[in-house]
Amino acid sequence: MIKKIYENIYQNEIQLPNNPLKAINSYIIVSNDRNIIIDTGFNREECKKAFMEGLEELNIDLQKTDLLITHLHSDHSGLAGELSKKGVRIFAGKIDGVMINNMTKPEYWKKFEQYAKIFDLERDNISLDDHPGYKYCIKEPIEFTGLEEGDLINIGGYSFEIVDIPGHTPGHIGLYERTYKLFFGGDHILDRITPNIAFWGFEYNILDIYFKSLNKVYEYEIDYLFTAHKSIIKQHKERVFELVKHHIERLSEILQILKLGKKSVRDTAANMTWSLRYDRWEDFPNPQKWFASGEAMSHLEYLVSIDIIEKFTENEILYYRLKDK
Ligand SMILES: [Zn+2]
Repeated sequence: MIKKIYENIYQNEIQLPNNPLKAINSYIIVSNDRNIIIDTGFNREECKKAFMEGLEELNIDLQKTDLLITHLHSDHSGLAGELSKKGVRIFAGKIDGVMINNMTKPEYWKKFEQYAKIFDLERDNISLDDHPGYKYCIKEPIEFTGLEEGDLINIGGYSFEIVDIPGHTPGHIGLYERTYKLFFGGDHILDRITPNIAFWGFEYNILDIYFKSLNKVYEYEIDYLFTAHKSIIKQHKERVFELVKHHIERLSEILQILKLGKKSVRDTAANMTWSLRYDRWEDFPNPQKWFASGEAMSHLEYLVSIDIIEKFTENEILYYRLKDK
């Protein structure tokens, strides 16, 4: 469904079947010269159909169109392969662009089997097939142009700056139009739902990275923040405030949980409060268990980084406990 939301800017809302996010907002910036699409929807038939119908409605010539991917997640990048074949040039942040292509290789997913083990998720019989990103990602590597902070994209009378906003993924990027005060933020800041902050390997203190990116965008003057899910945000500073508050509450909730003794990642996640319709961890669908464990993990590792808790391994399972003071 196409909606004009600003001069030369359209929103294509694409349903994501059986996904708690419900839909993704793909955006299309049109000009006489070239067009830019921002994000795509999953690599699955239903999404492809809705996505293409939107482009037809606007008479978009794919030979004169670029796709810009805000971050690696399959609901944003899934149709990139398809579009590339049709002559669309693909742009992505340098870090996430490389990761999108890595997702086509078995080695990339191998580490998730290892995570299932150390997170104590084998107790739930979780496998890679339950991983939300696995099923609908691109299946073959694509050629893309890597973007970095400060790159300029001039289109339809606008000049968008590429901005690094890592956190939701390691190489998430946004587009900022300073004069018109517009910001395409992907999943960095969302209305009503809190973007998932997951685990991306022990080399990232990803929650800390996310806090810094929230701070960065907080400082911007923005009239319209075009989000990839749910509603467009007009009061972004307020929303940043709420998101920071949410994560601080999460951190203190985890400290309360660890007061009861050591916990694995799974058991930490199982004891946290989630806004899902399931009361018991056992009833969570397996993809939600992945999400919840990743979210628990980013917070646990943050608490380790500020030296309040510590981790240790027992029988190959990772545990966290409060530090003796
Ligand atoms: Zn995402």
